[in-house]
Amino acid sequence: PAMQSPGELNDGAYDAPHILFIPSAGIGHLTPVFRVIAGFSSRGIDVSVVTVLPTVSAAETDYFNGLFADYPAVRRVDMHLLPLDASEFTREDPFFLRWEALRRSVHLLRPIITNAAPRITAIITDITLTSCVIPIAKELDVPCHVLFPTAATMLSLNAYYPVYLEKLKGGPEPGVIGDAVDIPGVFRVPRSALPPALLDVNKLFTKQFIDNGRAIVKADGVLVNTFDAVEPAPLAALRGGKIVPGYPPVYTIGPLKSHATKAGDKPGDALLDEWLGKQRARSVVYVAFGNRSAARLDQIREIAAGLEDSGYPFLWVLKTTKVDREDDAELAEVLGDGYLERVKGRGIVTKGWVEQEELLKHPAVGMFVSHGGWNSALEASSAGVPLLVWPQLGDHRVNAMAAVRAGIGAWAEHWSWDGEDTLVTRQEIADKVKEVMADGKLRASVAVAREEAAKAVAEGGTSYRNMHDFIAKLKGGA
Ligand code: UDP
Ligand code: UDP
Repeated sequence: PAMQSPGELNDGAYDAPHILFIPSAGIGHLTPVFRVIAGFSSRGIDVSVVTVLPTVSAAETDYFNGLFADYPAVRRVDMHLLPLDASEFTREDPFFLRWEALRRSVHLLRPIITNAAPRITAIITDITLTSCVIPIAKELDVPCHVLFPTAATMLSLNAYYPVYLEKLKGGPEPGVIGDAVDIPGVFRVPRSALPPALLDVNKLFTKQFIDNGRAIVKADGVLVNTFDAVEPAPLAALRGGKIVPGYPPVYTIGPLKSHATKAGDKPGDALLDEWLGKQRARSVVYVAFGNRSAARLDQIREIAAGLEDSGYPFLWVLKTTKVDREDDAELAEVLGDGYLERVKGRGIVTKGWVEQEELLKHPAVGMFVSHGGWNSALEASSAGVPLLVWPQLGDHRVNAMAAVRAGIGAWAEHWSWDGEDTLVTRQEIADKVKEVMADGKLRASVAVAREEAAKAVAEGGTSYRNMHDFIAKLKGGA
């Protein structure tokens, strides 16, 4: 296979690749995995997908169903999760608990892999399962790659964190995280911007994070949904072995394009399109905090008032619980008396699913108030829409730092997040929205990022070539 040029790799002269994808839980984790699956399946690559049942959220179920409806050639392999005794854990996030349950059920993969026909030629696992999947893959002699669903900056933190903790052991206060974690070749992440769970090395998330960060070095490759021009520093540091020597090849393959979802065609979309069609170019403030960030009631009311005060038309996707199945709050009640009537025509608030990637491309959209989920950040930059990042939890502040450095967004640095109860006032929100809307410099740098994103995935671009090389590697059986 080494003699073949990538262009000749389609003729099936070798054991045809059959790739087993092992996704994790949470839409943000499924999104990049499904986009890669769609790309592979469209190229005629044989794909099986471990479908873990039950899902945590209703959105995930719809999402899985949409994938299998749109790509009938994709093989669905159900895996019934073993129950997790949650009494062992106190106050853990439902998605972290799910990751743990998955990690503890991972031996169920062994028969799935050995019984598969045709033979599984490579595995692609989500980052959260890395340290559990790699040993099984090694035992069964199947190459194993990791798909990292967020920013390369976050990947660099994941790689460096175990090294950092080792270093701490030699210091005066082992296990106590200092003022900042200085990632070699990247930047100093202040303590306040770290995913809060990481401050406690005994947290479930932190244990997983550390185990996965160590184990990933044994993977055959790491796929990341980003592109070189948006995060050059962490990519150079990872690839140059500056963070961890001998780090596996990092394939940047973003921004990944979405796949059409039949399940996503909701009747509400037509109404939304009609409304958007009536708005001035670049005038609409789009507000959404991803799939698992729920704001408090008093904060929701300030956001509502702030948007009203900003004077711009707005579209707000509102979630009041982490898990959508539990979200039965009435919008009118949540937003307070008369609000919806008052903003009628000027503002839309919805609890439903919107086709965000499509929406961001609409010429009426002028900015995006976002939690800083990396899928959202990339979708915005590909559409040339400036971000106002209001981090909520987890990796969002690290992503915000990456977004500012890349010139794709502004970061509301002092606005409260996970565990803090200070309220961001309507005035602060309205002012910041107006400031970002008027920021010509930011708009110009986002326009550059949009060009770079398009170049990366166009023929000959960095992400295009990486995807090509990666597929060639899969076809060569490497
Ligand atoms: N998304 C969407 N419609 C919704 C909610 C979310 O299309 O109503 C998509 C969004 O476009 C993005 C993903 O879900 O691709 C969210 O991922 P992100 O990393 O931004 O945030 P997370 O949900 O993981 O916090
Ligand atoms: N992550 C990681 N290593 C792990 C598990 C997770 O680097 O072993 C990353 C994950 O991709 C995400 C962050 O850590 O960037 C978790 O953030 P968060 O708490 O927001 O969860 P998520 O939004 O991904 O569901």
